[in-house]
Amino acid sequence: MQEQYQRLRKLQHILFEKYKVQEEISEIPKVIETNEQVLERSKERYLEQNRRLDRAKDKLKSLKIRLDEAERTREGYEKQMDLISTQKEYEALDKEIKDASEKEQQLRKEILNEEKHIEELSSELEDSEELINSQKEDLEESRRQMEEELEEKRSRLQELEKEEQDLVVDMDNEILFKFERIIKSKAGIGIVPVKGIVCTGCHMQLPNQFVNEVREGTDYHFCPYCSRILFYEEEPTEEEAAEAAEEVESGGLSDLVNADDFDLQ
Ligand SMILES: [Zn+2]
Repeated sequence: MQEQYQRLRKLQHILFEKYKVQEEISEIPKVIETNEQVLERSKERYLEQNRRLDRAKDKLKSLKIRLDEAERTREGYEKQMDLISTQKEYEALDKEIKDASEKEQQLRKEILNEEKHIEELSSELEDSEELINSQKEDLEESRRQMEEELEEKRSRLQELEKEEQDLVVDMDNEILFKFERIIKSKAGIGIVPVKGIVCTGCHMQLPNQFVNEVREGTDYHFCPYCSRILFYEEEPTEEEAAEAAEEVESGGLSDLVNADDFDLQ
């Protein structure tokens, strides 16, 4: 069994890293998705700005046509001035000319405004275009990085899977299946020592008889509380205990169990 425990502990490291790498591989494309969405929104904004610019240009065109008409109307009235004979006719025509001029002025003002508006829209459109180009470059760069990272992680995954295969080649399938599930659900720790009568995975006290069975080590034993595979670890010698205590002081180990606290019989 000792050899099996050793293998499981080795496998535990491999599986833990394997799951981590798999998780990372599935996370990587999400960064790209976010970048793609940002670019997509910029493109939509660009199209909307383009439509607004087209509408403004149409409006400018029709204003110019109306100005043209207003000018011709005024010129028509001015020509009639040569033909009038009475004061009353003069006053009436003079008013028409003034109205036509006013209309012309108004239209010229509107045209200036619209031209300014078009200039602003064009410059916004240019900015959007620049933004889109830089976002495209960013996206390309992210894609390139993603491919690199993915390749790296995939090859690491292959290495791990190879190591895993070598380790599990003659292991019991049912034990392996359980072990993998525990590792996934218990943050990578699937096999832990029993110290005294305590499972160091969940710190629960185990029945003496059960601990004895674990100690005999003739078969696999799963902690009844946390489901982890258990193996028995002999109490440290005084020397080892002193070393361990030092480690605790420096913040290394957290859960040493003092054998004196438990009756092992
Ligand atoms: Zn446990």
